[in-house]
Amino acid sequence: MNEILIEKFAKVIVNIGVALQEGQMLVVNAPLEAATLVKYIVKEAYEAKHSKKVIVNFSDADVNKQEQLYASQETLNDLPDYAIERSKYIVENGAAMLSISSPKPGIMAGVDPTRMQIASRVIAPKMAFFRKYTMENEGQWCVVACPNDVWAKKIFPDLEVNEAVEKLWEAILYASHVSMDNDPVADWNKLNAELTKRNEILNDYNFESLHFKNSLGTDLTIGLVENHIWAGGGEHSKKGVYFNPNIPTEENFCMPHNKKINGVVVATKPLNYGGKLIEDFSLTFKDGKVVEYDARKEKDALKSLIEFDKGSSSLGEVALISHDSPISNMNILFYNTLFDENASCHLALGASYTTTNLKDAEKYTEEELDALGSNQSHTHVDFMFGSSDMEVTGLTHDGKVVQIFKNGNFVF
Ligand code: ZN
Ligand code: ZN
Repeated sequence: MNEILIEKFAKVIVNIGVALQEGQMLVVNAPLEAATLVKYIVKEAYEAKHSKKVIVNFSDADVNKQEQLYASQETLNDLPDYAIERSKYIVENGAAMLSISSPKPGIMAGVDPTRMQIASRVIAPKMAFFRKYTMENEGQWCVVACPNDVWAKKIFPDLEVNEAVEKLWEAILYASHVSMDNDPVADWNKLNAELTKRNEILNDYNFESLHFKNSLGTDLTIGLVENHIWAGGGEHSKKGVYFNPNIPTEENFCMPHNKKINGVVVATKPLNYGGKLIEDFSLTFKDGKVVEYDARKEKDALKSLIEFDKGSSSLGEVALISHDSPISNMNILFYNTLFDENASCHLALGASYTTTNLKDAEKYTEEELDALGSNQSHTHVDFMFGSSDMEVTGLTHDGKVVQIFKNGNFVF
């Protein structure tokens, strides 16, 4: 890929993604394939932001796989003190955290998943403070993506591997609003302003419910929880820094009431679940729960998702994305949520984003949250249902019907 574009992408990541502050430390977790991108990220961090220190951790999925295959369970479970000290050092220095993701679909075939689970159960409690640092926005963090051979061939199986990688780079850069003739940082500021404005409009209406209808057969009413918050675009860290946790992002999302969902939704993209591709499926809801479902392919996988736990037969998220948006217009299935969920209006079976989508969420117990309509589950799986003819309206608490989408796109 043209290095001018990669350098522009690096500027977006440093200035918009993690929004690195003057003199701030930066930690970069990256696959080997991202070396050129990382070079420009390090340059931008030191040159433009005078970063105190940039720490780069390269890893390789194939190398990690050898450890998973051949190391003893004792070795897998071992988290040495220096690794904990290192994470403490990062937190104490208030570093920004960047993850460059580069999924390799199918690469872990042959690895016993229980060994990984046992190890993470031992290690996770010791690293809870570190997870909290990003999960609760104590510092800025960001996830972006970079191509690799395996992922590129999965998306473009008919192309030569080099062409497929190039094509995936083009798609990632396009989705991330990076092109030869734009100022991507300015464009991101504009996009964040648009998403924020929409959040404000939607929050001001304080809708009781949303109604979705299209010609494919979707006819669905989704009640929203009281005191909900529409979110999307950038977020503020606890220190007040505005950053973008996901690049790309196009969505405005909110919390459905898990007992007030009624009607039918027809999916418009296949759903990749546990390595199975569920195609042409629909769900029927009554009082918040899936009561009927069908799929042309992999109906059993859909069944196992719906029956995964108590909360996986209800919804934790409703997200609005205009049909006419950069990722949607490419019409590519990325097999990766970071991209696919930003291509189309989507719903998620499973857990809601309680702290993001509910006012004063921290003051409630789990039972109270459930009573309020916040969905509790150990899974969260997004699926797409937007279409070019989607009509969305909102019902206000005083009975007014307000148009939100016309012909697949936001009206405001
Ligand atoms: Zn979403
Ligand atoms: Zn989601």
